[in-house]
Amino acid sequence: MLQEVLSASATDDLIRINARATGKDDAIRQAGQLLVAAGCVAAGYEDSMLARESVANTYLGAGVAIPHGLGEDKGLVRRDGIVVLQFPEGIEWNPGQIAHLVVGIAANSDSHITILRRLTRLIQDEARLKLLATTNDPRLIAQALHGDAPQAAAAEAAEDLAETIDWVVDYPTGLHARPASAWGEAAKASTAALRVRHGAESADPRSLIALLQLGLRAGDTVTLSAAGKDAKAALAAFHGVVTGLTAREKADAERAAEKAAKPVHGWTPVGAPQMIGGVSASPGLAIGTVHVLASAELHVSDVPVDLAQGGALLNDALVRTRAQMKALIDDTTRRLGAGDAAIFKAQANLLDDTDLITLTCQLMVEGHGVAWAWHQAVERMAHQLSALGNPVLAARAADLQDVGRRVLAQIDPGLSIGTLEDLPPAPCILVAEDLSPSDTAVLDTNKVVGIATALGGPTSHSAILARTLGIPSVVAGGAQLLSLAAGATAIVDGDAGRVWLNPSEADLASARAWIAEREAKRIADEAERGRPAITTDGAQIAIAANINRPDQAAFALAQGGEGVGLMRTEFLFLEQGDTPTEDEQFAIYRGMIEALDGRPLIVRALDIGGDKQVPHLDLPKEENPFLGVRGARLLLRRPDLLDPQLRALYRAAALGGDLSIMFPMITSVPELITLRARCEEIRAELNAPVVPIGIMIEVPAAAVVSHALAAHADFFSVGTNDLTQYALAIDRQNPELASEADSLHPAVLNLIAMTVAGAKKHNRWVGVCGGLAGDPFGAALLVGLGVTELSMTPRDIPAVKARLRASDMPALQALAAKALAAETAADVRALNTGAL
Ligand code: PEP
Ligand code: MG
Repeated sequence: MLQEVLSASATDDLIRINARATGKDDAIRQAGQLLVAAGCVAAGYEDSMLARESVANTYLGAGVAIPHGLGEDKGLVRRDGIVVLQFPEGIEWNPGQIAHLVVGIAANSDSHITILRRLTRLIQDEARLKLLATTNDPRLIAQALHGDAPQAAAAEAAEDLAETIDWVVDYPTGLHARPASAWGEAAKASTAALRVRHGAESADPRSLIALLQLGLRAGDTVTLSAAGKDAKAALAAFHGVVTGLTAREKADAERAAEKAAKPVHGWTPVGAPQMIGGVSASPGLAIGTVHVLASAELHVSDVPVDLAQGGALLNDALVRTRAQMKALIDDTTRRLGAGDAAIFKAQANLLDDTDLITLTCQLMVEGHGVAWAWHQAVERMAHQLSALGNPVLAARAADLQDVGRRVLAQIDPGLSIGTLEDLPPAPCILVAEDLSPSDTAVLDTNKVVGIATALGGPTSHSAILARTLGIPSVVAGGAQLLSLAAGATAIVDGDAGRVWLNPSEADLASARAWIAEREAKRIADEAERGRPAITTDGAQIAIAANINRPDQAAFALAQGGEGVGLMRTEFLFLEQGDTPTEDEQFAIYRGMIEALDGRPLIVRALDIGGDKQVPHLDLPKEENPFLGVRGARLLLRRPDLLDPQLRALYRAAALGGDLSIMFPMITSVPELITLRARCEEIRAELNAPVVPIGIMIEVPAAAVVSHALAAHADFFSVGTNDLTQYALAIDRQNPELASEADSLHPAVLNLIAMTVAGAKKHNRWVGVCGGLAGDPFGAALLVGLGVTELSMTPRDIPAVKARLRASDMPALQALAAKALAAETAADVRALNTGAL
């Protein structure tokens, strides 16, 4: 072992004082020969050490270099060992970098990091290093490499620096991650040394972790102190930053309290667990373990730490990640087999890459924080791999980044982020900055029982998918969601738009009871779901499902769907890595027709753009994609997308079934005329039957000119999600405005009324396939406005049907008339008395 080698190192064999070499290569060769002589490596290791120099830099910093062999030559290592050559005159390692201590290493990766830890600790001690570069006593070098970390730091840490200011924490929720990082930024920008002390504990404010570890709560008194250049002014400035955050902290806490105080229908906890308020996106209550999903971009702040501490932190993180990977490999092997586990094996091997570890330590020695240094090292190496243009190596780059994130999470739990592949086995609450529709589409519903996102809006496509999957979901919960500790227990209340944290046993029991009660009601509604939605005075409303794939049809029908009112075909493009061919599309449309067995199917032509971006189409980036080349606008510009889809649809129609085609994002009559003409050309070419061609009404302009559009469209289907977005000028994904993006706004309802009136001019029917159709109260209003078809996520069907069956048309019409005359969405909502 390393220890043995070092304790025996008083012999000149392992430490060569006052060495001489003709240059760097000679020095490396000598180090290699010493390792061979010590029996640590087989002959040939010197060549491997030299070869490494051409692919990686082994200068660690502060006059220390660490030559070692290539990873692929590990077989030459017999046992761990190090040798030291002391060059008092110095050897130029790289231009401008002079090495005085050349530490030759023969070690596997575990020992490699141990050695680097010791060296990095040493590097901090400039005076000692100077002495070691010139001493005649090899034992001093052995002791320096062998000794343990100085213990003095902790004792002196609790002392204040020269200038002090006391401050009573007045952030209502104490010092949490966001203000702490603002303190960190300020401390890093300061010319003076700063310290924050609470009782016997103190922290360097440049370290986010150290600050958070103080666990400061409102009312705690802390002493801020400073020393060094302009200490007084620097302390005043730091104090200014600290107190300057108070107003915002208080305002945030008030907002949260307001949200908490709002009356809620439904479940309320027994006690008062911590709560994060958001906007409800998919109903229901879910209990699970928090899993924070990696955002596409990771922000790792550079928080320098003491090198010894940093080395230990890195080492521990690597050890823990190896254990985690081992568990993952075992689990995957059992569940899916060794083939699937191989990916994680390959990832685990990347942890042993000594270049990666060396580069991290070099960055730490340069003064960077551990997490930052590791992240940089991973990113740089991943970049090198992917820049080679070799797909195999590019995949390794992705693996490296993946495993790199696991290590990061171990270094700093605040960076604890996961991927969709490593969801914990327990029922899990997926927490993410935002979820892309394709992420949501592939969620493992056996594992994910609830979703909470920091961003997003209730009508975003991810929210729609969550409703389809029946996963309770809260959006727009804010950044604080992302700092939740992975593994904590949380309750997602998708009805009230709240996330409750670390609930008590009593809360959990009450939530479980609520879930059971809900389930019983759902089962009761479902018992009736097969019956049509006929009002008490005999008006029948067609009830259809919004589904995208044939394999969802059986469930939609089982829920009481009488057909499909919206098949969003863009998901065929989003879910797979390339554009589906005409034949592939044909198979899917045909599959859907067959699954519906003669029931109506409305297939919507591609609606790409807005929040549905398809990377493999390489479309130009737009400033405002929701106002850009989206839906019909894209189809009109891209016959390569439109034509194969229309051909596939007409081929499918030719084999029977009740198919209609619908175009999204229509704004004007000429768009519709052009698209219709193209449909007719393709139909004629294929000698296919005529099928109804309808349009979505989702742009206010279309609602306003619906009387003109009705002359050219066989039917309308109102997309209330987009109609709300465009009528209210609220981005459907904007979390700040999510609660205002209310489809019950009288402006939206009046546009729907105009649409119904326009359609009537040409005897066209009007359906609604946006989210409002799936809300029982919304559905009642829409029927009152004259809508005769409602299409929704399958799970919403039983409750909507039940509501309509309990109503009569005059009452619904009276309700609609009142809603049209209302001033605000809240006034409309207040008209909801439960039943009609
Ligand atoms: C809508 O906008 O309401 C709609 C149904 O279309 P999508 O949600 O797919 O944009
Ligand atoms: Mg839409």
